[in-house]
Amino acid sequence: MKNKRFIAGAVCPACGTMDSIRIFRSETQRDYRECVDCGFTDAMEDDLRLEGDLPEARIAREESVLEKNTDVIRFVDITDQH
Ligand SMILES: [Zn+2]
Repeated sequence: MKNKRFIAGAVCPACGTMDSIRIFRSETQRDYRECVDCGFTDAMEDDLRLEGDLPEARIAREESVLEKNTDVIRFVDITDQH
């Protein structure tokens, strides 16, 4: 079963249509992008970056990493200990 998902805001490099690009993974675990409008397909680069990639998605990932680090070094107030 192929898991296909559309990429919000992605623009097809062949026909220029927005929101027509979807990503799917082949049997060889390579990621491909495909335009449902004109039939364009392309193998994705390893870093999975697309034209029109939303910066918000990257910021959200960085914030979740920060949260994890903050949890690890959580401040402990030793003056409360008896
Ligand atoms: Zn297209």
